[in-house]
Formats: sequence, structure tokens, C-alpha cells
Amino acid sequence: MHRYARVVLDLPGVGREFDYIIPSALQGRVQKGVLVVVPFSDRRAYGIVIETCTQSEYAQRMIESVLDDRPVVAPSQIELARILSENTLSPLGAILFSMLPPGLSQQADVLYTWLGSDEIGEAGETERALMRLLVRRGPLRGRQIDAALPYRDWRTAARRLIRRGLLRAEPVLPPSSVRPKVVRTAQLACSPEEAQAQLPHLGRPGSVALVRRQAMLRFLIQEPWPLDVTWLYAVSGGNRADLDYLAERGLIRLSETEVWRDPLEGIAAVDEPTAPLNLTSDQQRALEVILECLHQSEEAAKKPILLFGVTGSGKIEIYLQSVAEALVQGKQALVLVPEIALTPQLVRRFLARFPGQVGLIHSRLSAGERYDTWRRARDGRLGVVIGPRSALFTPMERLGLIILDEAHEPSYYQSETPPYYHAVQAAMEYARLTSSVLVLGSATPDIVQYYRAQKEGWPVLRLPERVQTVLAPKGQESPNVTVKPAPLPQVKIVDMRQELKAGNRSIFSRALLENLEQVIQAGQQAILYLNRLGASTYVFCRECGYVLKCPRCEIPLTYHLDPAELICHRCNYRRLVPKTCPQCGGHEFRHYGLGTERVEQELGRTFPGIRILRLDSSTSRVKGAVDLILTHFAHHQADVLIGTQMLAKGLDLPLVTLVGIVLADVGLTLPDFRAAERAFQLLTQVAGRAGRGPWGGRVILQTFQPEHYAIRYAAHHDYEGFFHHELELRRTIGYPPFARLVRLEFRHKDRRTVEQESERMAEHIRRWISESDQPRCEVIGPAPCFYTRLEGRYRWQIVLRGEDPIFLLRPHFSELKDWRVEVDPPSLL
Ligand code: ADP
Ligand code: ZN
Repeated sequence: MHRYARVVLDLPGVGREFDYIIPSALQGRVQKGVLVVVPFSDRRAYGIVIETCTQSEYAQRMIESVLDDRPVVAPSQIELARILSENTLSPLGAILFSMLPPGLSQQADVLYTWLGSDEIGEAGETERALMRLLVRRGPLRGRQIDAALPYRDWRTAARRLIRRGLLRAEPVLPPSSVRPKVVRTAQLACSPEEAQAQLPHLGRPGSVALVRRQAMLRFLIQEPWPLDVTWLYAVSGGNRADLDYLAERGLIRLSETEVWRDPLEGIAAVDEPTAPLNLTSDQQRALEVILECLHQSEEAAKKPILLFGVTGSGKIEIYLQSVAEALVQGKQALVLVPEIALTPQLVRRFLARFPGQVGLIHSRLSAGERYDTWRRARDGRLGVVIGPRSALFTPMERLGLIILDEAHEPSYYQSETPPYYHAVQAAMEYARLTSSVLVLGSATPDIVQYYRAQKEGWPVLRLPERVQTVLAPKGQESPNVTVKPAPLPQVKIVDMRQELKAGNRSIFSRALLENLEQVIQAGQQAILYLNRLGASTYVFCRECGYVLKCPRCEIPLTYHLDPAELICHRCNYRRLVPKTCPQCGGHEFRHYGLGTERVEQELGRTFPGIRILRLDSSTSRVKGAVDLILTHFAHHQADVLIGTQMLAKGLDLPLVTLVGIVLADVGLTLPDFRAAERAFQLLTQVAGRAGRGPWGGRVILQTFQPEHYAIRYAAHHDYEGFFHHELELRRTIGYPPFARLVRLEFRHKDRRTVEQESERMAEHIRRWISESDQPRCEVIGPAPCFYTRLEGRYRWQIVLRGEDPIFLLRPHFSELKDWRVEVDPPSLL
């Protein structure tokens, strides 16, 4: 019999696991993966059981309760958490608890109920105060008692009272926000004939109540299944009292039914179910490899599959057909996307292909909606889960296929809150643990991933050509569409320095203006792309060059038009535009650079009457706004869509025949080894939005640095060329894939403290290196980060570069607890 359990706690700073005794009352309920409440020093904490055992030298205290009899994490997830903890230098608890839906992992609270009489005999002051409080106010949660009583040690007093049988303590979970949702339903409780016979006797003849009750009952006679009562109210005009009236007479039965909060309600019904498309020969070849892997998953799961398909090559259709096969085999599938709001088309296509089987994990879901989707997946009721990186941790017992779309996207890296991990790496481990097939899809594979694919012999499936659907000539019946390869759009580079020399001071080059004109004339659509926010990048004094920066973050402030103010996009500091320069007193403050609002204004001026939509972080803040803007544009309710990075992903808009990249240079000069790769990916993705329909398309790329290699290769859709160029650069400067990086960052309000701590740590690390017999590792820094200050705190970093810097740091993990540690971070800014 397993009498002990090893438990990982949800307490920050408590990295270790602890052993607890399983009390006899909980025998059989405590199993691997369940969520429990345990005492920890003088409080209670949530914990996840990662193991049960027959012996323990350490266990002294008992598990208090089991919060959910079903495991909240599967054994393979516990194993994954262990591996990630080792590889990312994060505490096991941080990783395990980040796998749970939000709300479940909050710290436990306990409900205290007074059981005794008012007379408690011998008792201290605290005990009496606690009694009086609970008698007066009824059962209270620990946090409410904290607020109500002046005694900090009241929990000790409470324990004494519990032992005397005067007080009861029970953990409360799930927190109210993630409680299952129920609806009240009504159903006929007698035969339709009996009900029919009662119709005239449901109230005073001629009264309105009679009419309402009759309407209700008639409706229930027609629909002999449990009906949501709100619906009944709506169709009958009746109310709760009428329902009770019918129930008291035994005519109907009231009950509660649990409903799943489904964020897809409404959406799922929009599209007709779709059948698989006939594949092109490239698609067919790619799919066959994936299907083969699905059939012999044990072997295949050892290596990811890279699906390298240019924009518009039909990768999603391959995902769909792979998932279909997984479902046929009785397996479940996970589909990860960089950001769900920006991939509405992918989501819709999955919903239409697999009606009723798709669950969506979404950052804007309520905690309750997330909890429900999570439970449906755990219960095996969902065949497919689509979501951002965190969806990887949705419990799925029969997982067989993991797909990551746009696998090169930096949003697969979690950098906002710990644990810092990369979903691609996590997915690779998880696929191995669950013998699942992993597909990484991209038009511009990450340089490191592509390098590994070649070195380690991953299957690379290429879709070098676009798919184009051609409407068949009128009169011809089925098939009404045929498929043929379509060219990638032609890209024209415009040197903006030449424009200036030629006297064109507009933000639009002559070439872009001409093309816009044509597109609008022809009734087609254009996208103007910009990767910055606000009406201008930064504000500077024309006379002395002084640049206005955020006083807290020291990065340039962004100018916004409506309302006119300057905003720091790091910390949200805001101020008005000064009338005079703080440095020289000059009166010529000027906006430099470009923003979506400025482009919108200028476009409206140049083409009066055209219909413009804007998609950027300010227009998309409201729930559903992205979808709305994109739907409007897709239905040709606008001629031009102006947008930022958001536009780069997953959109398939056949009427778009022109993409204008207003300024391609932005981002190229950032001091980061991935800057060129990022710029290349973005430019390629954006260019890929043009010419997806039968009318073809072109791209106008405006730049001040037409000779830059990232711009040149992007203009030629030349991934291989870029890859080799970039790889050689990385080799020379010794960056990934030729080395691994660990970034250590320290933040503090006081600049001196940051400097001193950074110097001290660098010193230590140098010593660890000299004492280690491991492969060479190099210390870069310490130095201030590019974004020197964040939310009022200074940032410094130390970068370790070498074959295995993680190995070097692992033994010293506890010494790094005040540091932010990032393994293989996608950016060093
Ligand atoms: P990607 O994700 O590679 O950019 P998509 O999967 O969005 O490309 O495909 C681009 C367009 O081509 C979509 O409109 C899709 O419906 C269409 N398409 C893809 N494959 C086929 C096919 N085999 N037959 C017909 N249309 C296809
Ligand atoms: Zn700021």
C-alpha cells in the first residue's frame, strides 16, 4: 500500500518536492497527478502529487484533502515538467502549475464553519474573538478572517478549536469563477395527453396568468426534452412563478443540467461542414509522409517533421487531413498557433471540417470557459484542441499528433512570466514522451530549426508552390474549381532616398501611388503594412536633434494622434507633446517615422472617398475586434487595410492584389543577433499576403537600405539564399546554432544596485567556469539591456555562450534565484 505521496507545491520560491502521509480516509484517492491541499509551515498550500510511495524518511504531516479526484496532470505531463525544469532551469512547481488552467492554481483558501454552541469553556482571547466572528457572520474564508480579525496567529487558535470539534475547516475549490456552469431546465413530467387535459385548469379563466401557463405547457408538450427555462420564458412570456405553479401540480419537472461554456457557440454554426479537398501532388507527397508517421508513431515520434511550405501553399489543408487521420485512429490532436485572434481562418476551417470536436483555448476566454474546455479535453470529449503555446499543456489521454503552425514565430517563447520556455522545444519533448507525431509548419523556418533538421535528418516536406483555385468557366458543372500552381507575387524594391532626391516628400513612393491607383480603379484590394504603432515612431527637435524618451524606460516615446499624446509602449507612461524643446528651447518639434494613423490620414488625403480599415493594437483591443475588422475586409467592405505585424499571419484574402510595405527598414538595426532573421520572416510573410487569388499580385517594398541582405532575399522569396548568408554570419560571430545562449537578467529600481549585483554575479560565473571541467563557456557582459529600463526598473544582463552553458549553471541554481534566467532566448534586447 502506498502510504506516502511526493508533492510539488504551488508556492513561489519553494522549488523542492515534499513527502506527505496519506491519511487512511484518503487512501485510494491520492494518486499520481491529483491536486491536493497540504499544510506547509503555518499555512496551507496547493500541491500536485507526482508520485506515491511505500516508504519515506521525511514525511511527517498529512495531506488534508483531495480537490479533484481526477488527475489534473497526466503522467506524461509530469515527466515533461521534469525535463523542462532541467532544461530551462525553472522550478518544477512553476512548470507543473503553469500547466493548469488559470483559477485552478490559485492558492488554496479554507472555509471555516462554527459547529459548537456559544459556550466554549476554557479559551484564549483569539479563540473567543474567532468564535464571536463566526457566530455573527456565519462561515467565512481564511482571507475574510484575515481581514476581520486583528490577530495574526488566529490559525493556531483555529486548529485548537478544530481538535475540540467546535470548528470545521474545509478547503474551497474550485474558486467560484471556474465552477461548472449549470442551467435550469424544465421538462414534461406527465404524458402529453394528461398535460393537454390540464390546460384549461391552470388559473382563473380569462386571467393573463392562465394564458402564460398554457403557453408554457403547450411548448413543453411539443418539445419533449429538457429545455433551458430562459428560453421557455422567452417563448411564453411566463416567469419563475408560473414554472413553480406547473411543477407543484406535477405537470413538469425542473432540474439543473451542466452546460459547457463553449466560446465557439455561434461561430461553429456559421460555416457549412467541409469535405477534404483534392490535394496537389506536392501536398499529397507531404501528407503521405505524415500519415506514415502516424501509423508507426513509436519510431516516428523521435524526430519532428518540418513542413516547409511557402505562403499560400496549402499547409492548413495538410494539417486538416493529418488531423482527420489521427481522429480515425482514435487519437487526439493539438494544434498550436502563434496567436489565436490573428488566425481566424485556420480556426474556422478546423471548425467546419470537424464540427463539434474542436475546442479552443484563447487568452480572452473567461476562466470558466477555459476550465470547461480543459475538462472536456481531459474527459476525451474533444478530438482537437487549438490554442496558443499554453494549449500544449491541455491534458489529452490519447494524444497522437501535435501541429505547430508558423513554428518560427517568437510568440512560441514565453518571456512575460516565468517559467520561461520555448513551446517548440517543449513540444519536441512532449511528442517523444507521448509517441505523438510533431509537425512544425512554416514558410520561413527558424534558422536554428532548419539547421537542426538538416543535421539531424528530420523529414523536411517542401511545398515550393502556391495553390491557386481557379473558377471553372460558366456552364461547366462540377468540378467547379480546379487547382494549379500560382506564382509568388513579384516584389519591387523602392529606394526612398531616390524618392527624396526626386523631390517626393510623401511617405508613399511614386510606384506605390501608381499601383494603389490601379488597384482601386480595378475594384481590388490593397494592404499597407507597417511594423510600428502610433502616428510616428519618435519625436525629436529639428534644431538640436533632442529625442523625447520615457523617463522611466528611456526608450523613445510614440506619438499618437487621437487623442494627441506621447505614449511609452513599455510602461504606458503618457504625456502631451511639449511646445518647446526641453534641451534647446527650440519650437520645431517634429514627428519622424510612420505610424498606422499617419498612413491612414495621408492615404485618405491622396485618394478621397476610398474605404480604409486599420488593424493595429489600438483598434484591436476590444474582444472580437480583430475578427470583425478582418471579416469586413474579406467581404470587400474596404479597399485598403492598414496594419502592423498582426497582418503578417495566416490571412488568405484573394482580392488583395497589392501589398505595400511602407518602411521595410524598421527593426533591421536593432542590436540583436536575430534582427535580420526577424525582418526577413516578417517581410516574407507580409509579401505572402498578396496575390492569393486568380488576379495575381505584387508587392512594393519601400526602404532606405535597399542593399541589405535581408531585404534583398525577402524580395526574391529566396529562403535558402537567406539561410546560407545568415548561417555564415552566425558561424563567424559564434551565435546559435553554433552555440547556445543563456541570458541572465537582473532588475532593480536602483541603478547602482543593478550594476554592483551584475558585476558580482559575473565574477562568480567566471569562477564557476574556471573551476569546471566542462566545455568552454564565455561570459558576455555584464551590460545594460537595450531597453535599459522597464517599469521604472533598471535592467542589466549577462549572456553565457558556449556548447552547454545550462550544464554549467545547474549546480548553482539556488544562487541565481533573484535573477531572471532564460535559456535559448529568442531575443537579447
Ligand atoms: P498556407 O497556410 O500554406 O499559407 P493555406 O492552407 O491557407 O496556405 O491555403 C491557401 C489557399 O489555398 C486556401 O484558400 C486554401 O483553401 C486553398 N487550397 C489549399 N489546398 C488546396 C487544394 N488542394 N485544393 C483547392 N484549394 C486549396
Ligand atoms: Zn516607459
